[in-house]
Amino acid sequence: MAIISTSHLSKRYANGTAALNGVSLAIEAGQFTVILGPSGSGKSTLLRLFNGLETPTEGSVSVNGTVLQRRNLRQVRREVGMVFQHFNLVGRLNVMTNVLVGRLAYRSWLGSMLHLFREEDFRIAHEALARVGLAEKAWVRADQLSGGQQQRVGIARALAQQPRVILADEPVASLDPVTSTEVLGLLKQICREDGIAVVANLHQPDYTRQYADRVIGLNSGRVIFDDAPSQLTDSR
Ligand code: ADP
Ligand code: ADP
Repeated sequence: MAIISTSHLSKRYANGTAALNGVSLAIEAGQFTVILGPSGSGKSTLLRLFNGLETPTEGSVSVNGTVLQRRNLRQVRREVGMVFQHFNLVGRLNVMTNVLVGRLAYRSWLGSMLHLFREEDFRIAHEALARVGLAEKAWVRADQLSGGQQQRVGIARALAQQPRVILADEPVASLDPVTSTEVLGLLKQICREDGIAVVANLHQPDYTRQYADRVIGLNSGRVIFDDAPSQLTDSR
């Protein structure tokens, strides 16, 4: 079954910008899907609709068979981890605390505020850090790490959520080429070995060819390509 599917999805912002126009697609488990398109083509909007950060103007989004609605958002979001271009870590806090944020989805808000993380949360967070190769950095302040390491912490935070899918919005746009290939390689590995679907927004055709199992090309809010990366032509 598709882990995420959309039906006739459109998004028009309050200022009138039509960011997406009738997108119907299905994201399959275990695949590394890249959403490829130029700046302004609607990639971020699509990803934010996938986890309910934006609401559709028309159409719907289903996650694991459940149509996203305001009342089930919290429940459904557990299944969806997020990775960001600028990592979105709290720099003054240590790495472990940043990864534990991924466990908040499983704790009541008050419980989280009162630091009621359980033994289990620490164990899962530690496993996630080990998965990204940063177990030894658990007690280091996040802002002491390199960009690539910070992004790996961001991935660990998403893993700690034990999601079915990880959405990565331009995950390597702030990283140098060597670090970028490490981060994309790690996401690919997680996809292959842990059975978690990965959807990444990218604007670079070369990385897309190298890592994607499937490419969804967006332009002006419409799907203009949906195929294997080997079918991408040089002009894209
Ligand atoms: P990107 O390269 O990721 O598209 P942008 O600089 O276009 O980055 O956008 C940065 C943020 O501002 C995003 O969260 C985006 O949704 C938001 N944004 C982009 N365009 C507008 C707009 N016209 N009005 C309000 N917010 C916008
Ligand atoms: P991409 O991620 O491909 O750069 P976006 O989804 O960020 O594309 O943006 C798609 C279009 O929607 C752009 O024209 C952008 O300026 C506009 N946009 C994005 N976010 C907002 C917003 N919050 N308000 C108004 N317009 C927005």
